[in-house]
Amino acid sequence: AKRSVAWIGLGIMGSPMAENLLAAGYHVTGHTLEPHKLDRLAARGGVPAASVAEAVSGAEVVVTMLPADAEVRAVVLGDGGVLEHARRGALLIDMSTVSPGTAVALARAAAPRGVRVLDAPVSGGEAGAVEGTLSVMAGGEADDVAAALPLLRALGTTVTHCGPHGTGQTVKAANQLVVAATLQACAEAVVLLEKSGVDLVAALDVLGGGLASSAVLSRKRENFLSRTYPPGFRIDLHHKDMGIVLAAAREVGAALPLGGLVAALVAAARAQGDGGLDHSALLRGVERLSGL
Ligand code: NAD
Repeated sequence: AKRSVAWIGLGIMGSPMAENLLAAGYHVTGHTLEPHKLDRLAARGGVPAASVAEAVSGAEVVVTMLPADAEVRAVVLGDGGVLEHARRGALLIDMSTVSPGTAVALARAAAPRGVRVLDAPVSGGEAGAVEGTLSVMAGGEADDVAAALPLLRALGTTVTHCGPHGTGQTVKAANQLVVAATLQACAEAVVLLEKSGVDLVAALDVLGGGLASSAVLSRKRENFLSRTYPPGFRIDLHHKDMGIVLAAAREVGAALPLGGLVAALVAAARAQGDGGLDHSALLRGVERLSGL
């Protein structure tokens, strides 16, 4: 029998991820706020649901892929939410990027209702979601990770159990720190090259062949060269993530001087109207500072 999955949040990431589950033979009932995303799911064999309640009642697994803490808490803990309507024994996998504290709060609230929870945020961007090659960082009970493994492997190539509830989100925070700092460094390199009159294509080729190579440099290369920044991963979401990084660091007494600086630059990009652009638009901030 096909396993039944309720998928809440069919955005840039959720939509292609849910389609990969359909392709792997899962029965997917989806709910999201944009009607055209529900039409798209239906066209690929999924079942659109008008509410969270309708989507989750009867599902063995519930996946949430929502923007941030507030939406996840509302959809899972709120009136008419997942915990109110999920059946006992269901497994809730929150794949959104939220704070480790929210991941722990979901698990605590779900336990008395007989609902098991994993935090399983992802890295790999829209391309990874489409291709099913995401990196999945899971936090929670080992048994639940084992039970979720076939489903998670339909979405990603690297699936790692990081530890107890919340640790998947802590690892994702570390990931977002590295990605933002690398983007900022690449953007600064581009402006240095540009202002020096060096051929950018040749320079990025040779940088990509040495120790400066990175997934960020290769995947954002076209954005840097064309100065176009279609999302992708929006600056607004990276701003949210840098808030999670700095709060997590404060909680454990980790000093992240570069993290603080990059968080400020992401916040500035947003304040200057670039929040809806891909995070590679950090280049625009360096250009502004450099009078370009
Ligand atoms: P998105 O804004 O494109 O999608 C969010 C979806 O959630 C939308 O379809 C929206 O309708 C839905 N939604 C919001 N509130 C809802 C509610 N109350 N009920 C039902 N649906 C609701 O965001 P995204 O880029 O897909 O990112 C989703 C999560 O994944 C975020 O936490 C983000 O940080 C993380 N993430 C994104 C990327 C990326 O490259 N875009 C990569 C890794 C992780």
